[in-house]
Amino acid sequence: MKKHGQIVKSYGRRFIVEADGDSYDCTTRGKRVDYACGDFVDILVQNREQAVIEGYHDRHSLLYRQDEWRTKLIAANVSRILFVTAAVPTPSEELLNRGLVAAEAADIDPVIVVNKTDLPETALWLDRLEAYRTLGYTVITLSAKQDITPLKPLLEGQTSVFVGQSGMGKSTLTNALLPDANARVGDISEALDSGRHTTTHAALYHLDDNSHLIDSPGLQEFGLKHLKATDLVHYLPDMRPYIGQCRFHNCSHRQEPGCAIKAAAEKGEIRQSRLEFLQRLTNELSG
Ligand code: GDP
Ligand code: ZN
Repeated sequence: MKKHGQIVKSYGRRFIVEADGDSYDCTTRGKRVDYACGDFVDILVQNREQAVIEGYHDRHSLLYRQDEWRTKLIAANVSRILFVTAAVPTPSEELLNRGLVAAEAADIDPVIVVNKTDLPETALWLDRLEAYRTLGYTVITLSAKQDITPLKPLLEGQTSVFVGQSGMGKSTLTNALLPDANARVGDISEALDSGRHTTTHAALYHLDDNSHLIDSPGLQEFGLKHLKATDLVHYLPDMRPYIGQCRFHNCSHRQEPGCAIKAAAEKGEIRQSRLEFLQRLTNELSG
């Protein structure tokens, strides 16, 4: 029997697919694993413990993680990236910049969530984030421990992921959104696959009929290595006005004559720290 469904849990080589309200334990054909949590797929069903994924439907977006050997797919069809940050532990602007680039490259609107507003240190961090608001990013503030309502409208009708440094409150937010363990669809099949799958790579949870949350440890280190250095300016809103204006097509924005981006930074149109970020990332991706 053939069915159409969505991958709600991935274990690397095995997947739980939800179709018509039931979940199916699926394998894939061949050795390559080309599927990710969130993928809409066609499956061939033997029974609930035995089904095979036959193919996936067009993806709106795809998030990757780069490990030493190859690029791994983490999540498909994500429409919202929530970059969770807080004043404590020390936030890294470098990681924020990288997260925003990854989101823009996947064509997903990122939102910056400032958590732990109950801590007095927050004011200073918010001052620094003002520069990102100026770039056009939505910045919302909340305390996951007190009230997560500011988050709700941003999740509505979206498939969302939380990303960000460890310790910023991603799990606290996830738990606040999914207080009822039964909401965790992937777990329906826990009895069915007990003992067989040890590591969950990613899981999709339903917040309501139209809103979903994908949770994956791999998302904390999602990759930029698949990007081309010369495309980076497209993913940086402050650099976008200067696309195509450097004299050299493969400008590294360091020493070259006629670099429009360096000129803009000298005039104060681009922040120095963002120029340095672009230079570092260009160098990393050209290596
Ligand atoms: P994760 O590593 O991003 O998943 O972060 P966690 O959710 O594990 O949170 C890290 C720590 O921050 C935990 O000790 C939480 O209790 C704490 N935390 C989370 N949200 C808040 C908040 O709104 N205010 C304060 N003061 N602490 C919080
Ligand atoms: Zn340049």
